[in-house]
Amino acid sequence: MANVMQQTVNRMRLKSLEKTLRKINQLSDTMAEKTDAELQKQTAIFKAALENGKSLDDILPQAYATAREASKRVLGMYPKDVQVLGAIVLHEGNIAEMQTGEGKTLTATLPLYLNALSGQGAFLVTTNDYLAERDYEEMCPLYEWLGLTTSLGFIGDPDYEYQPGEKQAIYKADIIYTTNGRLGFDYLIDNLADSLEGKFMPDLNYALIDEIDSIILDAAQTPLVISGAPRVQSNLFEITKQFVQTLEKDRDFKIDERKKEVWLTSKGIEATRAYFNVPDLYEARHLDLVRNINLALRARYLFEADIDYYVLKGEIVLIDRITGRLLPGTKLQSGLHQAIEAKEDIEITNDMSIMATITFQNLFKQFHQFSGMTGTAKQGEKELNDLYSKIVVQIPTDKPVQREDYKDRVFMTIEEKNKALMQRLLELYHSKRPVLLITRTAEAAEQFSMFLFQNNIPNNLLIAQNAAKEAQMIAEAGQLGAVTVATSMAGRGTDIKLEQGVAELGGLAVLIHEHMDNSRVDRQLRGRSGRQGDPGSSQIYISLEDYVVKRWGNTHLLDNEKLRQQDASELEQSPLFRHKVSKIVHKAQQISEEQGIAAREMANEYEKSISIQRKLIYKERNKILALNDFSQFDIEHMAEDVYRQFVKEHWDQLDANRLRAYIYKNVSFDFKGDIEEKTLENQETAIEFLVRLFQSQKRKTAETINDAEMYHEFLQKCVLKAIDQGWIRQVDHLQQLKASVNNRQNGQRNAIFEYHRAALESYETMGEEIKQNIIRNISLSMVTFGQKDAMIIHFP
Ligand code: ADP
Repeated sequence: MANVMQQTVNRMRLKSLEKTLRKINQLSDTMAEKTDAELQKQTAIFKAALENGKSLDDILPQAYATAREASKRVLGMYPKDVQVLGAIVLHEGNIAEMQTGEGKTLTATLPLYLNALSGQGAFLVTTNDYLAERDYEEMCPLYEWLGLTTSLGFIGDPDYEYQPGEKQAIYKADIIYTTNGRLGFDYLIDNLADSLEGKFMPDLNYALIDEIDSIILDAAQTPLVISGAPRVQSNLFEITKQFVQTLEKDRDFKIDERKKEVWLTSKGIEATRAYFNVPDLYEARHLDLVRNINLALRARYLFEADIDYYVLKGEIVLIDRITGRLLPGTKLQSGLHQAIEAKEDIEITNDMSIMATITFQNLFKQFHQFSGMTGTAKQGEKELNDLYSKIVVQIPTDKPVQREDYKDRVFMTIEEKNKALMQRLLELYHSKRPVLLITRTAEAAEQFSMFLFQNNIPNNLLIAQNAAKEAQMIAEAGQLGAVTVATSMAGRGTDIKLEQGVAELGGLAVLIHEHMDNSRVDRQLRGRSGRQGDPGSSQIYISLEDYVVKRWGNTHLLDNEKLRQQDASELEQSPLFRHKVSKIVHKAQQISEEQGIAAREMANEYEKSISIQRKLIYKERNKILALNDFSQFDIEHMAEDVYRQFVKEHWDQLDANRLRAYIYKNVSFDFKGDIEEKTLENQETAIEFLVRLFQSQKRKTAETINDAEMYHEFLQKCVLKAIDQGWIRQVDHLQQLKASVNNRQNGQRNAIFEYHRAALESYETMGEEIKQNIIRNISLSMVTFGQKDAMIIHFP
């Protein structure tokens, strides 16, 4: 029923798009009659129209018709009607679902061209460097022919050091092809720049995201992080590990497996008080203890060896839950990694502090508009709508899909399943029909590849380490007799073309080793076959020992002796058995999907505070960077405020010695003057004294620098330094806070409320600290001159 409704809604959406399509089609003859020079002139005409008050929507039909004709002349490809439909959705800031092989790369050129006409930049964002570079190389001749500038958003070499001005040049282009990771890191780095010249990012205008579901849904739980210095290590990992071993599940603590949360019950809190001898656990000074108990509980109960991580050569190596790939070098944040190390009795590594972080969700929310395309978004529509207010429009394929998606094959154990799969692989190979076997883990892929070699069957093994080689192998996967074994991530975004004669055999056969975490990913995998109306087939093999079942499902049927003794092929024919197993597997997958949604929702909730604060701070930074005249920035007044606060707070004990100590630390290293009695006569005299000292310090520095422009720069750097110090500490603090609060209250609602409250409080404290540090930096920093009279500021 829901499906019928969805289809009706989709048809209605398409109807309104078709109106625009007709307008574009009506212009095609006019465009075709234009000479090259005339067609190229269109860009300038559009720009002028925009300047005269026309909107992008107004010129869309003209612009699309122009780019379409140009594409025919420059690239030799004329965007088809279905591609134009997709392109309209992409301009509207929504999500176009287009099947593999339908030509998303070419589709993207239309909205990118249109949006770049505004002069404010348009980004194409993909998942990896290879795809970005390939699509850029292929499409840039079109844009350049039409008179727009283009760039690739990065330089491939990972060790490359950008020269001054180089990034500015990249980001100045009208159309930029890049990856989500590159873009995100650059966004964070740009907001750490300490001068206007150091900034390179334009205002973020329009982004078109390729494979959008994998970027803003699948990859959404891992934020981008720029690490700073190692954090002061907690020594609580061992003791909390031992302590949580004494706790009993449900009595002392509760677990919500789906939301990946653990919290202490009142009994558990009682036990903690007794064990650590602390009367009130929720005093601020015990924050670290509470956090570590939570980490130890999570490490023990929510992270399973060989499913979430392996212990390899004395190190924890994480496993990517979606692809099953190992993630060496990736670490869990905020002490969780260390808690797992403690649990596994291996050496505890350093936890790095965080300097800057952003989630992909929030990165793209910085854009004035963003849209996306993918082969599979419909199942994620509700979430995409809730989080980003985006709708998904399913674009019909140019030719009808001929692929057959067969029913799952069903087995008790992995061993039986693998046997059947291998049998099937042999059959297909002997019939010369190309086959692509997709597994969840690299290990399984290797195992099958090995088996095939042992049976003298040449095969390509793809476990996603080399994207360029990968694309080539995937491209060859449609040849007669080709056997390709790959993990689920391998070869996304690359088209599998069939060799002549393959269609007659039934096209590419996709065999899938198990259901993935998410049915969306299953659909992506099926879609590797049957492109552009090609014949093809897909089939998933399931067993009760599959990952999703082990992780989220119910395996009790495995203990059934009677079933165990039956022959696998007989069981496979039994409708009752098939039904039971399918139900278990699908239920497990459903739970896994729900868990994914819940986890992203939580991540989103937690991100709210940091996102608001980040916006305010970045805005403040940019204001300082753009400031031409520091007299607008009332430093003297700020100094007075800061000193007033200090004097007020310490008045009871403030004597000459204490004041002198404060001066050394905050106002002047070489203060030699006397502090007379009348200075401490009342609070005002003390404050006045400090302000005068501050002014004289400031004057001295101004004299040393002896150049108005450089002095301006000095003040600017002092302020920025203080903001950055405060913000970097805050980011790290919020990260830690997140790890500690969900242990505080039972319901998660309270936990989030508590988190936002504490986040706001610490934001206010940070504001005070920033002011103090601005004044301190101005007062205490020393200036020297290096080569070519470059100013060097030595911050306190
Ligand atoms: P997708 O990313 O949707 O899977 P691609 O962008 O890789 O698809 O395109 C698939 C193939 O179709 C490419 O070889 C591309 O050159 C070709 N193609 C796309 N659009 C057209 C078109 N309008 N006319 C001719 N060939 C096209």
